[in-house]
Amino acid sequence: MQLRPEEITALIKQQIKDFEFDTRSEDVGRVIQVGDGIALIYGLENAMAGELLKFKNDVFGMVLNLETEHVGAVLMGDDTLIKEGDEVFRTKHIVTVPVGDELLGRVVNALGQPIDGNGPLNTTRTRPIERVAPGVMTRKSVNEPLHTGIKIIDSMIPIGRGQRELIIGDRQTGKTAIAIDTIINQKDQDVLCIYVAIGQKASTVAAIQQKLIQHDAMKYTVIVSSTASELAPLQYIAPYAGCAMGEEWMEQGKHVLIIYDDLSKHAVSYRTISLLLKRPAGREAYPGDVFYLHSRLLERSAKLNENYGGGSMTALPIIETQAGDISAYIPTNVISITDGQLYLLSDYFNAGIRPAVDSGMSVSRVGSAAQTKAMKHVSKSLKLELAQYSEMLSFAQFGSDVDQATRRVLSRGERLTELLKQNQYTPLSQGLVVLSLFLNRYNYLDMLPVNHIQSFEQQMHREFSVKHPEIIDEINSTSDLSDSLIKQIKEILGELMNRYQKQHGIEDDGE
Ligand code: ATP
Ligand code: MG
Repeated sequence: MQLRPEEITALIKQQIKDFEFDTRSEDVGRVIQVGDGIALIYGLENAMAGELLKFKNDVFGMVLNLETEHVGAVLMGDDTLIKEGDEVFRTKHIVTVPVGDELLGRVVNALGQPIDGNGPLNTTRTRPIERVAPGVMTRKSVNEPLHTGIKIIDSMIPIGRGQRELIIGDRQTGKTAIAIDTIINQKDQDVLCIYVAIGQKASTVAAIQQKLIQHDAMKYTVIVSSTASELAPLQYIAPYAGCAMGEEWMEQGKHVLIIYDDLSKHAVSYRTISLLLKRPAGREAYPGDVFYLHSRLLERSAKLNENYGGGSMTALPIIETQAGDISAYIPTNVISITDGQLYLLSDYFNAGIRPAVDSGMSVSRVGSAAQTKAMKHVSKSLKLELAQYSEMLSFAQFGSDVDQATRRVLSRGERLTELLKQNQYTPLSQGLVVLSLFLNRYNYLDMLPVNHIQSFEQQMHREFSVKHPEIIDEINSTSDLSDSLIKQIKEILGELMNRYQKQHGIEDDGE
């Protein structure tokens, strides 16, 4: 038998008649129903949406539903500590999190409390987790690159500071790997990083922290973690908390990179809360405002103009698809909110093409404006070459008899695909990415059998790093390839190629 909240209210009121309870007080309410991390509260007429409520035993809750007779709140603590009839107090505060440089190197939960065992944070400032996104007049179009250090991304799907680029793909396709490599690549780039883990396993988050420490990347990174074992409300607020931390830096004129890993789980936690709060369910049982859930989050990433400090916040949200279905509800929503997507294919991943980025399905709608001249120069026709290759590939499977031109496209495509492979945890500086792609741009790959391409590339990186570091420095600092530089690189490469071919007994058959 289900009692209506109003009836329970009357019942409780009856029961507590003899107690000291000032029902006129607008800032104190009474719990009328509690369970599943949700509390219905009588009173609190002036409560605000998103306001923090204080329950007994130091449990806090957040107001989500404002109804005529009662208030619905999610609990951010153990709901067994709360009983019907307990007092609830307004705090008149929206949920806030600590912000500032003290967070760097730390792992915090969705409320900004440290969970890494390294003592208190000692921050001096806090910010509300929800805020209206910067308006049009405060913004500027993306104009500086954010290098991921991943060849296939920086060359074909470039990302700019302030952009929102979705990483989308099935499970275990290397989504997190791209995000973590991007963080590692921000070393000495004046970019502060925030990794928000939503509904991940605690062990995964710990492994990521270890990797970041190993690569000396934790000192400019903060991890906001709400693991799968935590309550849905904490998973729900985690990305907003991370975003608030980033906004603080962005408004100080700094550059921020924020990863939301992943928003599919975020949507699921919001669906859980909404269903428990008895909001009407829509498509795939998500509540009607699930689009707004992510749009208001991602709109807060921006490139601010000079009058507002010129800071930026680049967002890399992650979405997990089921069997490559990007037309499901949440994926289509987030695709339409972001400025492009990196689409990862499990087929590629399993075939050893890693990162498994499908260059045909991936786009960056704004990033090319920020791509450097050097990168543009070496990656001009890459996308076309790969598109032709994949078209010919399916075509060539039907017969072995292909003409000369087709064979050339196939051979080039195969070599280019090999060149674009890259191991995890090895993001490259801009200079090295440009040098690698130089091999394709000026046809050096044709001189090598496919299985030698990676080892030649590595040897080339070593050669330039050890003997000609000034060339890498010049590309990194000027971001340009002057004619004289191109000539110089060609000379070194020609000589290196000769040596390599002799060393490995490779006949240059001019194919
Ligand atoms: P999940 O859906 O579980 O979150 P994911 O899509 O985030 O998975 P990752 O965890 O990043 O995928 O990667 C899956 C596995 O593939 C990991 O073991 C990782 O080490 C490996 N991997 C990812 N990228 C590469 C790469 N470029 N080269 C080699 N191995 C890789
Ligand atoms: Mg992952």
